[in-house]
Amino acid sequence: MQTKLFIGGEFVDALDGDTIDVIDPHDGSLIAAVAQAKEADVDRAVQAAAQAAPAWARMAAADRGRLLLRLADAIEAEAESLALLETRDTGHPIRDTRNLDVPRTAATFRYFGGMADKFQGSVVPVEAGFLDYVLPTPLGVVGQIVPWNFPVMFCSWKMGPALAAGNTVVLKPAELTPMSALRIGELIAEVGFPAGVVNIVPGYGATAGQRIVDHPGIAKVSFTGSTAVGMSVARGAAATLKQVHLELGGKGANIVFEDANLAAAVGGTAFGIFHNQGQACIAASRLIVHEAIAEEFLARFTALAASIRVGDPKDASTEMGPLTSTMHRDRVLSYVEVARAEGGEVLVGGGPPSDPALAGGCYVEPTVVRIDPSTRVACEEVFGPFMTVHTFRTDEEALQIANSVEYGLGGGLWTSNLSRAHRVARDLHAGMVWINSYKRVNPGSPFGGIGRSGYGREMGFEAMREYTESKAVWVNVDAQIPPFYPRG
Ligand code: NAD
Repeated sequence: MQTKLFIGGEFVDALDGDTIDVIDPHDGSLIAAVAQAKEADVDRAVQAAAQAAPAWARMAAADRGRLLLRLADAIEAEAESLALLETRDTGHPIRDTRNLDVPRTAATFRYFGGMADKFQGSVVPVEAGFLDYVLPTPLGVVGQIVPWNFPVMFCSWKMGPALAAGNTVVLKPAELTPMSALRIGELIAEVGFPAGVVNIVPGYGATAGQRIVDHPGIAKVSFTGSTAVGMSVARGAAATLKQVHLELGGKGANIVFEDANLAAAVGGTAFGIFHNQGQACIAASRLIVHEAIAEEFLARFTALAASIRVGDPKDASTEMGPLTSTMHRDRVLSYVEVARAEGGEVLVGGGPPSDPALAGGCYVEPTVVRIDPSTRVACEEVFGPFMTVHTFRTDEEALQIANSVEYGLGGGLWTSNLSRAHRVARDLHAGMVWINSYKRVNPGSPFGGIGRSGYGREMGFEAMREYTESKAVWVNVDAQIPPFYPRG
């Protein structure tokens, strides 16, 4: 297990020797004491990244791509140990880290490895006699700040496009879950990335994170996390006119129409809200179901929710693990109290599981609450296995409820009516919409939100554009330009 900061191609202690205790959310045991980056460590990382930047930007794009492809191979070769590390650190069930998180991490690095030499500029037809070509130009050093809910995957979402486009990186993992990013750092060193191209600095937001936001040597900060911190990042970045990319919170609307395939909608909704204990920005946290099918849907859905196997995430049969920290578990449970106070009816769950074997962990049962859509719990992001239920009669009413929150990240709808499907997808206030499914992601498909869910996109060509500027170069081939001042 790597526990040191990754700076300039080496693993080093924090300058002041401080560490962060990383805790296993299953039983509260100590996984490791990890070096804690503070402002001066971030400065060292930025310096290393700045030194590495010119050569990395000039390297043939195919060679940058080849290193990313090698990294993807190395991740696959280490998949089992990486999955276990991620499971211990985050509480994600091992079946998910094995089948989703780690394979998706490799796939995303591979996608951007392949993209490196295919992302190209253009030639613009301008005045006669001129060649005007547009070069996608890397920004330089980019700062990347990620949360604790999908730490290994977010390494690839952030680093993949930034590196493919020719930038160097200073990445700060969340203080709660830094282990897999440090392991990725080891693999980056092993596959031969030049020193300083990637730097990984676990630390707290107020110190290491804030320094990334403030540092004048960083050209852009790409931030994934809560809306409140995202706003402070945008304000802070303004002082140095840094570019900002914000992937923030969500409150996903999941609309089930009366003509939906019920079995598919029940299963897809359960995945949408309960996968990763509901700790997903795109979680299907609001079920908006037509009143004609609401009772049947809820009977099937609550039975499924109650049957989900909650337990030790290292056990291959576990379907839901603990939340990532005690503090977060308490926050999620406090929302159950708010829901009760707001007149909500708890249909299933609502507390920690009764199994005494789980008493030492951060567990919360799958919870479903029927409540008015204007309440706090139906509008604020809970970020746990907590879904609210609302009913509707008309398509307009469904859309009105769906669009009544300030967030606009992911949303889904279930129907067999083709025209309704596209109409509602068009009118949903969201950056991503799934029709007859929920929460699909792919490295080629742009990922991001609108409104309080932030701006900018991860993945696809959009992500490459996030990490480049278009430089226009005008070449006078044989243009005859009449003098502007004829006397000259
Ligand atoms: P958070 O905002 O508390 O922390 C996110 C990261 O920001 C952490 O690394 C933290 O150390 C750092 N940070 C905290 N304060 C900072 C500051 N002042 N300056 C710079 N960095 C600072 O969020 P969290 O609780 O770790 O994660 C959960 C949130 O992330 C949820 O709101 C969730 O919706 C959001 N999220 C969004 C997406 C997306 O793609 N839109 C994906 C995953 C999670």
